[in-house]
Amino acid sequence: AKQRGKNQYVIYSDDMQTKSHEKIKMETSLRRAIDNNEFVLYYQPQIDIKSGDIKGAEALIRWMHPERGLVSPYEFIPLAEETGLIIQMDQWVLRTACMQNKSWQEKGLPPMRVAVNLSSQQFSKEYLAETVKGILEETGLEPKFLELEITETMTMDVEHTIPTLRQLHGLGVQISIDDFGTGYSSLNYLKKFSIDRLKIDQSFVRDIMTNSHDSDIVGTIIAMAHNLGLEVIAEGVEEKDQLRFLQYQKCNEVQGYYFSEPIPAEKFELHFQELQEK
Ligand code: C2E
Ligand code: CA
Ligand code: CA
Ligand code: CA
Repeated sequence: AKQRGKNQYVIYSDDMQTKSHEKIKMETSLRRAIDNNEFVLYYQPQIDIKSGDIKGAEALIRWMHPERGLVSPYEFIPLAEETGLIIQMDQWVLRTACMQNKSWQEKGLPPMRVAVNLSSQQFSKEYLAETVKGILEETGLEPKFLELEITETMTMDVEHTIPTLRQLHGLGVQISIDDFGTGYSSLNYLKKFSIDRLKIDQSFVRDIMTNSHDSDIVGTIIAMAHNLGLEVIAEGVEEKDQLRFLQYQKCNEVQGYYFSEPIPAEKFELHFQELQEK
């Protein structure tokens, strides 16, 4: 048994070495990617459940790796967070998304929000509101057309969250709580947060038709949000039945593959009409 234990240790340690080697390689290429502008933003429409109009677009980052092709954020965001590179990346995302939305408006597309995901590191920076303000001025985008998505877990530090959200909201930007339902926000705090919208996590939407527990949760979140004067958007909507259920529950907006996957800006612009005629 000892012998086996030893072998396992050896295997484990080799594996660890490969992993950290992989990680170093990845970190190097992540730094290079920032310098070489290898990132692009894809956009996914957010649809008004009653009218079918596009109310917003969530910007989602993609890495166009020269050898590996399109790399998912799930693969590089954790490392970007660990190395602090996320700050630079988030800044780029914010500026690019605002510029894109402004340019869409100038081209005559109906005005809509652009939603940007904030990392927890960015959310904890004291100068966040200053940064956002600067980017809005620089790009000329009206604040109400920018939405910042923070996850429910990021709101756990209530002492920090309340003033930060107040500052950001004070700029006139919209704020939504992403992945809602997966954390433990208490109703009491939710009332104190300056926010506009709850975004129901896709894990609840996925089994909405088969799992009564999930459909109950979704119904409850929507009713509670409306009582607090908040709007609700459901993400991960893939099927007509899910859409029907959400319509019945008076959810305000929906986002998901049923309407469109996240797509490049040019495609979003080109197919704007069709995207809202689904
Ligand atoms: P998220 O903010 O919760 O984004 C939703 C994810 O669900 C996106 O994955 C989106 O492509 C995917 N999705 C959309 N509709 C559907 C659907 O109908 N079904 C299913 N199964 N999935 C759907 P993506 O683009 O791979 O992004 C993953 C995560 O990476 C995001 O989760 C977000 O936490 C993070 N992320 C993406 N872009 C950025 C960014 O620019 N900055 C930061 N800080 N994080 C980002
Ligand atoms: Ca999001
Ligand atoms: Ca989400
Ligand atoms: Ca998520």
